[in-house]
Amino acid sequence: MLDQTPKEIISRSGVCVNPMKTCQPVGALYAALGVHKCLPHSHGSQGCVSYHRTLLTRHFKEPAVASSSSFTEGASVFGGGANLKQSVKNIFDVYNPDIIAVHTTCLSETIGDDLNSFILDLDLPDGKYVVHCNTPSYVGSHVTGFGQMVAGFIKYLAKKEEKSDRIGIFPGFVNPGDIRELKRLLKLMGVSAILLPDPSDALDGPMTGIYEMFPEGGCGLPEIRAIGGVRQALALGTLASKEPALVLKSQCGVETALIPQPMGVANTDAFLRRLMDISGQPVPKELELERGRLIDLMLDANQYFYQKKVAIFGDPDTVTGLLSMALELGLFPIYVATGTPGEAFVKQCQDIIAQYDVPEAKIKASSDLFELHQWIKNERVDLLIGTSYGKQIAKAEDIPMVRAGFPILDRYGHAYHPLIGYHGARRLAELVAGALMDRYDRDCADEDLDVVM
Ligand code: SF4
Repeated sequence: MLDQTPKEIISRSGVCVNPMKTCQPVGALYAALGVHKCLPHSHGSQGCVSYHRTLLTRHFKEPAVASSSSFTEGASVFGGGANLKQSVKNIFDVYNPDIIAVHTTCLSETIGDDLNSFILDLDLPDGKYVVHCNTPSYVGSHVTGFGQMVAGFIKYLAKKEEKSDRIGIFPGFVNPGDIRELKRLLKLMGVSAILLPDPSDALDGPMTGIYEMFPEGGCGLPEIRAIGGVRQALALGTLASKEPALVLKSQCGVETALIPQPMGVANTDAFLRRLMDISGQPVPKELELERGRLIDLMLDANQYFYQKKVAIFGDPDTVTGLLSMALELGLFPIYVATGTPGEAFVKQCQDIIAQYDVPEAKIKASSDLFELHQWIKNERVDLLIGTSYGKQIAKAEDIPMVRAGFPILDRYGHAYHPLIGYHGARRLAELVAGALMDRYDRDCADEDLDVVM
């Protein structure tokens, strides 16, 4: 597998081989699924949305529903205004959501459809809304598409209101398991918050035998409106949540703080300190004990982590969180890459690494898996941390791998587990230790195969 990847690296700018990202509408669709009684709608051809739904369904192992403007040749030439009008009527007649969240595709962007004016011209039933965002896939990635959709909800629905006691949280492109952990931390810290979006329940619902097109949960319409009056907003993940933070500040005058995902010990500590400032309450004993247990585990297994070389790849906000955690464990991250464009990622990683006495790392945005494989061919790593797409490199080079981030298509249960908070860090530490120790067991001499490690 991937036997033909050459060791010699030739600089490329015109072609991406084995991408590390996917297209903007995937993120927009995911964000819209985290809003209660909202149907995501893809303004383009059916092929695009089939792919987007399939990818999300395979990651979450739950149906990711979305409709399409179903462009054919006519719409591609004359524009998709008529298709959108007919789609919106059919969707409200047949499925009856409260909101339709439209995102564009490469095709509708290239022909120049003006979604703002299309939506203004719609004759909507009372109490029903259509919002939109622009998500051409020749820029950004699924992460920026996610941010654009969240910003779209705010642009259309949030109003400047009198300040309330609640805070707003943009959780970023994370799993439902992370959202549940986030809510638990907020509750323990006595902070009342509006989470936009909130994909828990929508994409990690229990098996009841009854299909519900719009499951319980999700950020509701009243909450989206009320986010315009929160006392402040925390935008988690400096890329995915940047756009909604900017829009909320400019439109509603809400103070926003753009902070890293609370992944790893230091990031979680910093997040809890912020919540402490907001609520005026100390960190409860329960969280102190959780932190203590995490540190205990990190120390117990340190001999297996210490100075192991690791490659980390995936989405920028996830990778920077994983990088912090890897350094805290004592790993040496020598390759750090994301497929999403943006040099801010490189600077962030450099700043994180500069806090530790570790070898220099290769860090790159707009990278691809072919390039990462070439780096590894030139200097091996002991461990790969990233999405399912890394498994081919792991197999080709016989390197253990820990799956983290999006998408994970070839394993079950991951979306239930957080990467954030002390619980998330504990899980990552356990996965990393397990992968390294399994490799030791596989390779060691029979006389060294001990059951006590
Ligand atoms: S055409 Fe564009 S929006 Fe559609 S699947 Fe391809 S990259 Fe994504």
